[in-house]
Amino acid sequence: MRLSSRVAKINPSETLAISAKTNALRAQGRDVIGFAAGEPDFDTPVNIKNAAIKAIEAGFTKYTPVGGTDELKDAIIAKLKRDNDLEYKRSQIVVSCGAKHTLYNLAQVLFDPGDEVIIPAPYWVSYPDIVVLAEGRPVIINTNEKDGFKMTPEQLRTAITDRTRAVIINSPSNPTGAAYSPQELQAIAKVLIDKDILIISDDIYEKIFYAKFPFMNMATCEPKLKDRIIVVNGVSKTYAMTGWRIGYAAGPEEIVAAINKIQSQNTSNPTSISQKAAVEAISGEQGVVDKMVSEFQKRRDFIVDALNQIPGVKCFSPEGAFYVFPNVSGIYGRSYKGKKITSSPELIDYLLDEANVAAVPGAAFGSDSHIRLSYATSLKNIEEGIKRIKDAISKLVS
Ligand code: PMP
Ligand code: GLU
Repeated sequence: MRLSSRVAKINPSETLAISAKTNALRAQGRDVIGFAAGEPDFDTPVNIKNAAIKAIEAGFTKYTPVGGTDELKDAIIAKLKRDNDLEYKRSQIVVSCGAKHTLYNLAQVLFDPGDEVIIPAPYWVSYPDIVVLAEGRPVIINTNEKDGFKMTPEQLRTAITDRTRAVIINSPSNPTGAAYSPQELQAIAKVLIDKDILIISDDIYEKIFYAKFPFMNMATCEPKLKDRIIVVNGVSKTYAMTGWRIGYAAGPEEIVAAINKIQSQNTSNPTSISQKAAVEAISGEQGVVDKMVSEFQKRRDFIVDALNQIPGVKCFSPEGAFYVFPNVSGIYGRSYKGKKITSSPELIDYLLDEANVAAVPGAAFGSDSHIRLSYATSLKNIEEGIKRIKDAISKLVS
């Protein structure tokens, strides 16, 4: 079968592939502890579910405007004012089927062949492929633990060319959990202020935040840049709503209108029922978010400490999200039954085969020295999973 050259240029999402593999192994009866899935293990809060049930019962089950209902746009506008001190009009908001879809649409309306998009690594798996699908060129800036996994203003300055169209900032980050402080964002803003470059601010982990400084995005931090910033957010992570598929963008009217145009030719509106649920999530009682976050923080403290006790493993303490990204390069070169482990995919295979633990190779996020573990699973699973990892690593010989 001849498929398009477009599809040959990208990889399937590795995070989703490993989550699917974990589920398939479990269905076969294997007792696998899953650290792969990037989704909260909590149930969607009941007030949100009830809003969806009410929507169904009221017959709110038909097409809505392509870019979302006015009710949901107004809830998003109120949220952006309340949480981020940002003002937008309805014509500056577009709702899509998850933030991934928002990012995909954005790339489709912004990039032409050869346009360069700066992506700090480690990056979320889907960014480079979303850019490639739009025929843009990902320009990767490598960061490491020493810089707190954050791009420095110098690195950004050096990466900019006259083809640079946009830079993606994801704070807190998937996979590292690193978050930019307001001062760090200011320093980055200084590099961008006199350049014709768009800034895509992926704020999806905004609420899953443990740092001492307050969460801020670039638009709040540097209002002079607001006309060039597209804020991307959604309900998946904050409200344990990954399956409901609601994400949104807030930004310049022209870009939002272009996304509406593209979306009118691919998905049409996001699900009507999910939109009603998202209104309740964003505008309703927020206490439930704090409860989830304090549970995540307890798990983070435990898992970082436990990983750092494994010889050969060094784990950076994340400031947000629900991932750890330990450096495991200290283990590379060791063998099991004569087979050497020299890369993150090999270590991940070994952990799955020998320890019944699923995680994602760092290579999928642009850093082969690391692996990613999601701690969106119970403390009991985390304790058992880390014990299995420790035992498996101790079986390796140098
Ligand atoms: N951005 C980042 C950094 C993510 O980790 C995710 C989670 N998959 C998304 C965007 C997309 O989330 P969703 O499509 O579920 O809204
Ligand atoms: N963002 C999550 C992850 O990184 C969910 C899977 C995906 O959409 O990539 O695991």
